[in-house]
Formats: sequence, C-alpha cells, structure tokens
Amino acid sequence: MDREVRVRFAPSPTGALHIGGVRTALYNYLFAKKQGGKFLLRIEDTDQTRFVPGAEEYIKEALEWLDISPDESPWNPGDCGPYRQSERKPMYMQYALDLVEKGHAYYAFDTSEELDAMRERLTAARVVSPQYNAITRTQMKNSLTLPEDEVKARLASGEPYVIRVKIPRKEEVRLNDMIRGWVMVHSNTLDDKVLMKSDGMPTYHLANIVDDHLMEITHVIRGEEWLPSAPLHVLLYKYFGWEDTMPQFAHLPLLLKPDGNGKLSKRDAEKHGFPIFPLDWKDPNSGDLVMGFREQGYLPDAFLNFLSFLGWNPGDHREIFSLDELVEAFSVERIGKAGTKFDINKAKWYNEQYLRAKSDEELANYLMQDLEKEGFTVEAGKAAQIAGLMKERATFPGDLWKEGKFMLFPPTTFDEAVLAKRWNQEAVSVLATYKEKLENFHEELTSESAKSLLEQSAAENDIKLGKVMQAVRLATTGVGAGPDLMAVFAIIGKEELIRRIGYALENLKIIA
Ligand code: GLU
Repeated sequence: MDREVRVRFAPSPTGALHIGGVRTALYNYLFAKKQGGKFLLRIEDTDQTRFVPGAEEYIKEALEWLDISPDESPWNPGDCGPYRQSERKPMYMQYALDLVEKGHAYYAFDTSEELDAMRERLTAARVVSPQYNAITRTQMKNSLTLPEDEVKARLASGEPYVIRVKIPRKEEVRLNDMIRGWVMVHSNTLDDKVLMKSDGMPTYHLANIVDDHLMEITHVIRGEEWLPSAPLHVLLYKYFGWEDTMPQFAHLPLLLKPDGNGKLSKRDAEKHGFPIFPLDWKDPNSGDLVMGFREQGYLPDAFLNFLSFLGWNPGDHREIFSLDELVEAFSVERIGKAGTKFDINKAKWYNEQYLRAKSDEELANYLMQDLEKEGFTVEAGKAAQIAGLMKERATFPGDLWKEGKFMLFPPTTFDEAVLAKRWNQEAVSVLATYKEKLENFHEELTSESAKSLLEQSAAENDIKLGKVMQAVRLATTGVGAGPDLMAVFAIIGKEELIRRIGYALENLKIIA
C-alpha cells in the first residue's frame, strides 16, 4: 500500500528565516497538499551554541503570514512529537549505539589538540582537505585502534567521547534525486562525521535521519546546500536497515544574486536595498533591524506567488496563481536544476498585480489606516475614490497615501522646474476664467463637467488646452505629473478646487 505523503520543513532557529528557507517551506507545503499529504515542521535545534532567541516564533509568524502553516509542529503536535530536537534528546543515543554495535560507527576519544595536530600533519603532507576518514582514523584514538579493554575503561571512567560514522573506504553511494536524477559519490570523498557529540547531543546528520524515519517522512525537499550531505544520509538509512522507507530526495536549486553570479546573500539585499527576510527581524544581539517583505508593503499572496516561481514554473504562460491554484499546478518535475536569479522587480510586479486586483473599498482601508496614523480621518467613500484612482500607479499599499495625499491636502510646495517652464500668462488667464466658471457652476463637479468647463475656459482665451495643461496640474496639485487630473478634480470637489486655484493665482510668480 502506498504510504501517506509526509514532508517536513526543518529549519534551525539560528536567526531570521532567509527567503530561500521560505521557498523551501512553500514547496514542501505545495507538494504535501497536492498529494493529499501532511506538511510537518521540525525545529532542528541540536546545536545549542547557535540558538537565537525569537527565531522560532519568527518562523511560525512568517508561515502564518503566508497561510502555509504546518499540519504538525511544536505548536500543533501530531503523533510524532516532540517536534523540537532538543526535546527529543534522550531518543538519539540508542540509535548511535545500534550503529556502533553493527560496526558502522565507533567511539572516538581524540581531544581537540589531537585533532588539530592531525590536520596540521596532513596539511604539511599537502593533503588538500584534511579529514577524519577511512585512512586517518587508523592513526587516531578510537575504538577501532584502541584495545577493547581500554575503550571500556575510558567509557567507564566518564572520559568524553564522540561517536563517528565509519565510512567505508571504497564504495559508490548512489541516490536518485527527484530534481537532479542519479547522483553518484565515491565514499573516499566522505569523512567519518560525528553522529553523537561529547555533550550527549546528536549532530544534525544523526538527528535528521532518525527523526525523518520516526516521523515517517516520505520526501525530503530541501535546499541544494544539503546535497553534499545526502550520500551520508543514504548510508545511514542503509546502516539502520531503513532502506525500504528511505524518503525520496529533492534538492532545490540555489537562489542567485540579481546578476546571476553566486549565491544570494544578505549583503546583496543590503547593497541593492531589497528585503531578504519575510518579516522585520531585530537581531537580539546587535539590536539591528532588518526590514522584511511584509513591512515593506508586500501582500502575502503576491509574495507567495513570486516565491513559487523562484525555481518552478507551470510550463505555460500563466503567472498569477492563488495558493489553491499553486497547489493544483505544482509538480516537482517542473522545478529547474539551474539556480534562479533573484529579481526584485518581479516581486514588485507581482505586488502591483495583486494590489490592482483588489476592490477600491478594500484598498481604502489601507489608506484610512495610514491617514489615521498621521492623525487624520477621511470618509470611506472618498478614500475608495482616491484608492481607485491611485491603484494603477501604486506598488505598495503605502503608496496610496504617499502618492495620493495631494487629493486630501492642498499643495504647500510647487515643483520649481515645472513652475519655471510652464507657469506663464496663458496659464494664468485660463485658470482665472476656469475659477470664475467654477464659481458659477451650481452642480456637483464630475470629471466630465470639470473637463468641459476647463475646455471652455481655454477656448474663450483662444489658447490650446494642451499648452497649459501641465501648469493647471501644477497649480492644483503642486507637481507636474499624476493620475487623470479631471478625476482628481472630481474627488477634490468644487470648493477646494476653487480655493487651490485662487491660492496659485495669488502666490505663484511668473518666472519665464
Ligand atoms: N536543519 C537543516 C536546515 O537548517 C535542515 C536540512 C534538511 O532539510 O535536511 O536547513
């Protein structure tokens, strides 16, 4: 019988979740949902020296923001708990000892000085990457070289030790990666990795394999940086006798710098001024705040859609996908092998598409909230009109307020360059006539009536409207460009428009 699909996202709580990690979580989520399976989250916190407070809550919040919360996790455990490796500590030793018993692992008593000396010796002998391996282990202090009695005595006396995996000297290790196909590695390139540390904690490799087995994980979908560890993992499955239920591996392509040269780093994000973390992250040690996609104004569904395309595509021209549509369309076969260039403009494009798809009323809420923060209020109907007019020009919800505030407040400054170039006697004449016409107009101003009155004003002065249009915009909004001006006038309303024109006629000096 086919096993239920179970995948896991297994971050280490060492800081904010990088965008690559969020993508890994998303692909796991999509894969699980597509297969009708389960998406688990396991906190891999065996390296206590790298633990950062707040990191775990951060991961939880980021997944919640994107609506891809796990089915089983430390916060909603299923039957395979605990879901934090630190809480599973007592479980691992028996597995390490099982491998020792089977002859696939051994005790090693080498001190850090002895390990350093070994590395120095090998470096002096021009060994490129000095390692504790099938050759060097024969010269070290371990249960393969020491007499059995001595090993027993050392263990009994409480001497610190680690347990290392015994990598065979000559063996081809193969694995069939779902993205890369067959990957073959010769065991002479692998080292005898520590499985159990002297503090009684397992290392990542041991804990990861034991937990994936106990949590009945069927597919391991993770970043390419873990591919070099995969052959060791395959050997461990074999040594434990768990080959039949070994998960299938899928190693996701790297996220590359915007120019495609090398791995995307936090420094690239700083350099180009784009976020790399989903949410704001305040480093608990330095106190530094790094801005997240959320706080920058990215909408969760837009960000998710953008993320899904960082390495995957549906095979046709469609680009806009809701979460449900992504689940439906997703397949590991369509994940590329090559790294994906990170393009922040694409993220912005997605945000614009999702922003525009929202109703004016929904967008009005953003505008009203921003206004409230500044200590103002605006009536919902008017906010919706402004949002409707501004949404074609906005990338982030915050732009509605930033770019649209001129509709609520009269300009206090006027663009000097436009003023120098466009503010002339012809503009003054047309505006003076326009003001008069508005004063004698007794209906509510619509964009149509605003336009026809302005056209009449130009015609009466025998001036082509196109010649003074930018000056009219400048006088009423303070700047030389913006959305449809007649629609703006209808939103501003007759009284306010008359006031603004009056102010401009009195105060703006003709320079030309
Ligand atoms: N704890 C590892 C990480 O931080 C998990 C790697 C894996 O998925 O096996 O990415």
